[in-house]
Order: sequence, then structure tokens, then C-alpha cells
Amino acid sequence: MLVDTLGVEFDEGEDGEFDYTREAAHSAYRILHVDAATGSHILRPFLNYIADHAHIEVRQDTAALELVTAEGRVHGVVSDERPEGHPIYAGATILATGGIGALYGRSTNPADATGDGIAMAALAGAEIEDMEFVQFHPTAYAGEDPFLLSEALRGEGAVLRNGDGERFMEDYHPQGDLAPRDVVARAVETEREATGDVVLDVSSLEFAAEYPAIAAKCRDRGIEGDEIPVAPCEHFLCGGIAVDDRGRTSLDRLYAVGECARTGVHGANRLASTSLLEGLVWGLRAGDDAVGFDPEAVDAPELLNRDPALPDRFAAEKFTRLRRTMDEFLGLERDPDEIARASSVLRRLKGEVDAYIRTRTARDLYEFRNASVVALLIARAASENTDSVGCHYVATDADESTAEPPADD
Ligand SMILES: Cc1cc2nc3c(=O)[nH]c(=O)nc-3n(C[C@H](O)[C@H](O)[C@H](O)COP(=O)(O)OP(=O)(O)OC[C@H]3O[C@@H](n4cnc5c(N)ncnc54)[C@H](O)[C@@H]3O)c2cc1C
Repeated sequence: MLVDTLGVEFDEGEDGEFDYTREAAHSAYRILHVDAATGSHILRPFLNYIADHAHIEVRQDTAALELVTAEGRVHGVVSDERPEGHPIYAGATILATGGIGALYGRSTNPADATGDGIAMAALAGAEIEDMEFVQFHPTAYAGEDPFLLSEALRGEGAVLRNGDGERFMEDYHPQGDLAPRDVVARAVETEREATGDVVLDVSSLEFAAEYPAIAAKCRDRGIEGDEIPVAPCEHFLCGGIAVDDRGRTSLDRLYAVGECARTGVHGANRLASTSLLEGLVWGLRAGDDAVGFDPEAVDAPELLNRDPALPDRFAAEKFTRLRRTMDEFLGLERDPDEIARASSVLRRLKGEVDAYIRTRTARDLYEFRNASVVALLIARAASENTDSVGCHYVATDADESTAEPPADD
């Protein structure tokens, strides 16, 4: 599909064969790539392909606000197209709304990653699973406007150094700089607290020539030389809307694919470079399965916009509070008492937005409502799972006396 239909030109070696790279916790070189920006090189031909497709209509700048349901079956969505509350009926509905990065202060995700599909599905009664498994990438640029420093850099020889200029990953894990993401992320945070800035040293690479897109981002932010300051940053949600091997959710005629879906392939800790493949495989399967159902115009939820005036910056201010709560209590490390505190803050925020949403359809309110639903799902899953597993790390009193996580973590 990617090569034959979309014409993606994956990088090749001098011998004309595909050039495979390796990423953290991988035991072999097996990742096809284009520069270190594979996603965008896939996305562009994909968008061109659907733009020319006779049976696909793209509605730009249109947000789905609620699912239309009747007797356990999903019949489409209510969108924010004018007039408000306009239902779009569908024989089958596929959610593909992406990640949840907007719930955290620092994320590699786009700003609109508010978990809308997960919240809409949860509110309609779909099963949601594994929400405690929020993955933090260990090497995002540490300054304002973070961007990802791909693991491929470490796969090809870049190394982490602490504020004293020393390499440290061997002290944390036998795989050193290529340890699993959660281990590296916590180690980077520990070293930042103990020694100051942690940097990714790219001096062993032909950095500018081999990674031009990343090098350009560094230049834009005024980073000179071979050492790039890094810090962990929210990156990927392993859990989401529970689906089977065809992308079917627990609700009839509702499918979910991509990052909003929980297929189970990522377990508790996604391995680098597996998400695009998952989206592609489940996207194709769900698409095949979803054909042949006729739309039915059932009663849609009536969304009222009686009172469009809002207190200035209501959603933005509440969002800031939500992000602080997530960063502080539901980030890299979680403590059971703190999760309980976070849950009560999040419940209060959700209650406030619910009151506003009864008479208003503003998109930022819905995004905040969705973010608060997803945040509560994360808090609940995190409180129910008392074991440290994958990217859900439960801090205990014992951890507080030893700064470093155990080497076999
Ligand atoms: C910087 C970065 C690098 C990555 N690199 C890799 C990699 O090399 N390999 C890999 O496998 N994975 C990688 N990932 C992960 C992978 O890119 C994502 O998991 C994947 O792109 C998610 O795809 P998606 O289609 O589920 O969601 P997205 O691509 O995020 O698309 C979601 C779409 O839904 C829209 N949307 C959201 N809410 C609504 C709503 N209410 N109504 C209507 N539309 C809505 C959004 O506007 C967006 O267009 C990377 C992620 C990031 C952030």
C-alpha cells in the first residue's frame, strides 16, 4: 500500500535496497524510514490520494461533537457545522481522532490532540481500556515549543549526557541509550534533577546531512553545536477505545483506528515506529468491514446554543488547570494518594464544563469537555492499576530513598 499505491519513497542504501534503521528496545534493524520524518512523508501522498478519491468528501475545519446513538447502535455524529447540532448520519462510523497530547503541558502531538474520539465513545458507553499507559518520549527538545528528537538518532549512535557531561544510561539499564522509552524517560528526568540539563550528543553522526528536518528545527531555535538539550514529553497513548482485530468497538457500527483505538498491540509500552503500521493495518481492516451499511436518520442529540457568550477565556483557563494536574500527578511517575487528589480536581473541572455545555456548542468547550473525560479515564485506570508496568510507573516510598530506578526495571 505505502510503496505501490501511495508511492512513498523510503530511504535506500547505496546498493538500492531499503535502508532499515533501529530504534530503542529493538533487537534488529527493521524500520523503514524517510529522513527522520517518516510520518509526514507518508501523510502528504496519503492526503493527495484521498483528495482525488471520488467517494471521499473531506470536510475541513469541522469537528464531531457527539455520537448519534439509538438502542446501542451508532448512526453517525453531531458536528459543529452550521446550523449547530447538524447530524451527519452514517451506516458505520469510524473514529480516528488521534492522541491526547493536549492534556499535558509538553507534548509532541498537535495542539488539537484532546482525545475527542475516546471521550465521545466513552460517553456513548463504549469500552475503553489501558488508559493508564501514557507514553512519554525521553528526548524532546527541552525548551519552548518542544519537538521530537527521534530515537533513530540514538539508534545510529547519538548518546545522552548529563549536566556533568557524563554518559549515564548504562547505570540504568543494560541496553544503555537504547533502553525502553519509559526507562530512558525516567532516567533523563532523574539526571536533570540531579545534574541540570541533559543533552543528546549527536557528534558521532553526520547530523545536518542525514537528519536535515531535525537539524533545521534546531537551527530555528538557535541551537548551535552537537549537543541538544532534551527532556521527556508526552508522546503517545497506548490505551483507548477497545477494538477487535477489525477495529470494531463494543458499540454496533462504531469503529476506531489509529491512536484513539486500543488494539492491544502496544501492550503497556509502545515500541518505537509501530503506530503508523498499526494505523495502516487497522485502518484497512476497519474500512473493509464498515462497507455496506445504510445510514438511518434516527433522533440526534439536540445541542443548544442559547447562550453563546462565555466568561472570557473560560476553556483556556480551565485547560491550564487540567494540564497542571496531569503534569503533576499523572505524568512519568504516579503516586496513589496523588492520583486521588488529581481525580477530585478533574471531577470538579468536568462538572464545571458540563454545566456550560448544556446551552453552548463552542468547539473549545467541547474540546475541554473531552479532555476532562479522558483525563478522568486516565486517573481512574491509573488508580486501579497499583503495579508498575510499562509506561505506568507507580512511585512507592522505597523509590523516594533511591534516586535511580532499579537497573532491571
Ligand atoms: C512527532 C511525532 C513523531 C512520530 N513518529 C512516529 C514514527 O516515526 N513511527 C510511528 O509509527 N509513529 C510515530 N508517531 C506516532 C504516530 O504518528 C501517531 O500515533 C499517528 O500519527 C496517529 O495517527 P491517527 O490517524 O490516529 O491520528 P492523527 O494523525 O493525529 O489524526 C487525527 C485527526 O483527527 C482530527 N480530529 C480530532 N478530533 C476531531 C473531532 N472531534 N472532529 C473531527 N476531527 C477531529 C484531527 O484534527 C486530526 O486531523 C509519531 C508521533 C509524533 C507526534
